[in-house]
Amino acid sequence: MPEGDTIHLAAQRLRRALCGERIVQASAPAARLPSLLRIGSLVGRRCLDVKARGKHLLIEFEGDVLLHSHLRMSGRWVVRPRTPPPDVTESDRADPAAGAKTTTAARRHATRRGQPWLHLVTERHEVFQYGGPLLELRTRAATRLEPLLAGLGPDLLAADFDAQAAAIRLRALDARLTIADALLEQRAVSGIGNIWRSEACFAAGIDPFRRLADTEPEDLQRLLLTARELMLRAVANGSTRPRPANVYGRAHQPCRRCGTPIRARRTGEQARTLYWCPYCQGETRDKGEGADT
Ligand SMILES: [Zn+2]
Repeated sequence: MPEGDTIHLAAQRLRRALCGERIVQASAPAARLPSLLRIGSLVGRRCLDVKARGKHLLIEFEGDVLLHSHLRMSGRWVVRPRTPPPDVTESDRADPAAGAKTTTAARRHATRRGQPWLHLVTERHEVFQYGGPLLELRTRAATRLEPLLAGLGPDLLAADFDAQAAAIRLRALDARLTIADALLEQRAVSGIGNIWRSEACFAAGIDPFRRLADTEPEDLQRLLLTARELMLRAVANGSTRPRPANVYGRAHQPCRRCGTPIRARRTGEQARTLYWCPYCQGETRDKGEGADT
């Protein structure tokens, strides 16, 4: 699932392509939501801003119109220059060695994804969105009232992120929740997904199975700031994954720090797999329920 850092990276790319530019063509070929029938109304409007909030993305246009998207599990934004070569994406261009091979790969990739949900054209760029289940055209006021956004906790990657306030919101959740499951609650803090909850708990040396009730606010703050630092570093590197990952996806492999085999188990309502090092993360008691994967 795209996490906050993925959305921030997409927002950066879209900002470069769209901000200050007028839309000359807009279509929503695979649109299923009624508000997108009005997509043509974007033509002639200038894009004012592109914002990431947690895992949501908001594109603002002149005349109080916003596009609100959430990529859920598999959605993706693609940006291409409009002038030839038409099939080179931003990320391809960042790699001068990629050459013609990648360009062809990009074309195949786009075809595999089928029809885009959204296609915006400016004088210099084309923007596509594939496979996101939430894509709506709204006014600013309607966006503020949108429950998915109104209920969001502070964005971990926002410039004004307040770790103390965010830790208080985490503590206000059900105290029986484990830290690992609390981190996925977007109404407390938004932007953290499955990959970074594992990596952040490891980097902060925190037992992810500890209950909120047994956790000091200072530890939660430290954990949030650690997650923020890791994710900002990934955004700065143009990556959406920890490279190399310390625990995520490394079940049974030796911990890079202490050599103990990394463990993995599905947790929480969505049964997402959590990874941890039992030694480095101070495992002091039996976890009881559930078997490792
Ligand atoms: Zn370890």
